[in-house]
Amino acid sequence: MPICIVERGVGGPEGTGESAGSHSVAARFPVGMLAAMPPTPPSPAEPGEPRIRDRGDACPGALRLHAAADGFLARLRLPAGRLTPRQALALADVAETLGDGSLSVTSRGNAELRGLRDGCDARLAALLDDAGLLPSPTHERVRNIVASPAAGLDGLGHADVQLWARALDAALCAEPRAAALSGRFLFVLDDGRGDVAALGGDVTLIAAPDGAALLETGSGTLRLPAADAVPAALACALAFLDAAAAAGTGAWRPRELPPGHLPDWAGALHRAAITAEPVPPFSSPGTPPPAPGPLGGRALHVLAPLGRLTAGRLRALADGAAELRLTPWRGVVAVAPPTGARLSALAAHGLITDPAAPGAGVTACTGLPGCAKSLADVRADAAAAPGGPLPVHYSGCERRCGHPHGTWIEVTARDSGTYLLDGAPVPRTALAEAVAAARTRKS
Ligand code: SF4
Repeated sequence: MPICIVERGVGGPEGTGESAGSHSVAARFPVGMLAAMPPTPPSPAEPGEPRIRDRGDACPGALRLHAAADGFLARLRLPAGRLTPRQALALADVAETLGDGSLSVTSRGNAELRGLRDGCDARLAALLDDAGLLPSPTHERVRNIVASPAAGLDGLGHADVQLWARALDAALCAEPRAAALSGRFLFVLDDGRGDVAALGGDVTLIAAPDGAALLETGSGTLRLPAADAVPAALACALAFLDAAAAAGTGAWRPRELPPGHLPDWAGALHRAAITAEPVPPFSSPGTPPPAPGPLGGRALHVLAPLGRLTAGRLRALADGAAELRLTPWRGVVAVAPPTGARLSALAAHGLITDPAAPGAGVTACTGLPGCAKSLADVRADAAAAPGGPLPVHYSGCERRCGHPHGTWIEVTARDSGTYLLDGAPVPRTALAEAVAAARTRKS
């Protein structure tokens, strides 16, 4: 069974996590883990060349726990955010028995367990494995795949990229070299509606009409047959690893590569026998995230207040659902008949089922007391945020963990009594009024 590494003082910007870059002390290496869990070692830099990273990526995972101020934290990669009902129920049990009773949804549609007890790592790994949530211990941190959550459910889009996500996950886990990707390397799969294409993927696939796909790598757009989309994404990820090794700067993502070390994307596709042609960049229709409520006739979308899914909420969502998909907007698409009774039941559990409900569009980092870096209890202040059309994100420090993409109101603690609202100081006592004005004024 999988092994666990407990990291102290490391984290990541993805979700509700804390600052990365602080010291790391591996505290536990149960039997066999060193062989099974490859690091992402930086290669030596050329003389005179700046080193970007001087250590392997220490992003938390299911087997690499992070010591936060409120206990240990595990980040579970859920490709396309997908959970079967059985897995959702298993996570509810895990959260209650080993953690703080909740699951946090990250800005990549992954899940975090917080407040985990010291020494629970082996038990946690066994429970996740039993639930089918650890298909590859060696690859568990590299399964970072965001896909249009409503793909295949509402008639929009050109292809069901949820199926692409499953195929890409299987291809990643079957490729030993892919285990060397950093825990931050991101694949984004957009079904053509443009809801996730701008989420900062390192390799982005976009479904196009007529059985084609667009491939974006940050240095151009290629059009190729949709049937080749998944092999192309994997080939590009491996091309990045080759370029990173050649650069020797320890880059975790393509955007960190030094000039002159661009991956040979075209060569990688050629070697994979994939025919691709350069085309103009994707022109996104900019479909917004689905509003809370019914989603077509087969599903519904709810938001989790401040991204938290209690065990009770998870069980309510799983009840009668064929599948759940955690979203990058800290919500859940449930594949289940969107009846009024079901929506009422979910609302009774505190889930947001109405776009006008308090809490819609409000996110926050962990803040105090969970993150020692925080200058304020931002979640308490965010819970009192007034409604408004624009998203608002509360951060306990300038790192702004888990902030949304696109346009949003930025609220950052400056000290215990003052926030910066889009850079301007606002006393905490006047914050709600100022946020209300900003969420309306900027829309
Ligand atoms: S206070 Fe918030 S933004 Fe700052 S490191 Fe902690 S979780 Fe991240």
